[in-house]
Amino acid sequence: MKRCVYCKAELTDGRDIDVCDKCGFKVWGEKMFNTIVQNMKNARENGDLCHMNQVDDLPKNINDFRMLERV
Ligand SMILES: [Zn+2]
Repeated sequence: MKRCVYCKAELTDGRDIDVCDKCGFKVWGEKMFNTIVQNMKNARENGDLCHMNQVDDLPKNINDFRMLERV
């Protein structure tokens, strides 16, 4: 079972990113997160996962991101 890297919620929809919608929307915003999820899905369908199976620039945690957001 995959789990969200932030809140540890179980991800049951077979998504390609280990982040739930709730946390994804907080970190990237709804539109950006949906774009990321869609891009990863497209990459998988194209068999091009070698450099797309990890999001390397995930903020370490949401609190860090919130602090950045306030600046
Ligand atoms: Zn989450």
